[in-house]
Amino acid sequence: MPVVVNVPGTENIKCSCCESWLEHWKKHSKVEPGKCRICRNADAEVGGHVKRFINDRGQMFIVPLCQKCNSRKEQVDSFLVAQEDFIYTGACFEDLTDISDTDDADTEFCDG
Ligand SMILES: [Zn+2]
Ligand SMILES: [Zn+2]
Repeated sequence: MPVVVNVPGTENIKCSCCESWLEHWKKHSKVEPGKCRICRNADAEVGGHVKRFINDRGQMFIVPLCQKCNSRKEQVDSFLVAQEDFIYTGACFEDLTDISDTDDADTEFCDG
């Protein structure tokens, strides 16, 4: 699973075609957000911006987080997210960017 860290200060960044980042996440993951991926306790209410901890290529991704975890100003410790929980911020414009990175060394698949 990819190791990611929270990216602070992203409140003003919006997906130009989705109402919110949580909507963006739902649109591309096609499942319900479920629990916050950091505390795994509260329901996920927002789509939080994260980046890869390993192999960071300046791309940002969305994972479902609770309001509390997302509003932390500092970077939280790195955390693991499942591959399917990890939606590229540019997914709505995927055809405009080459993001052919499905062969990442830090990615593994398991049906847990
Ligand atoms: Zn979108
Ligand atoms: Zn949380």
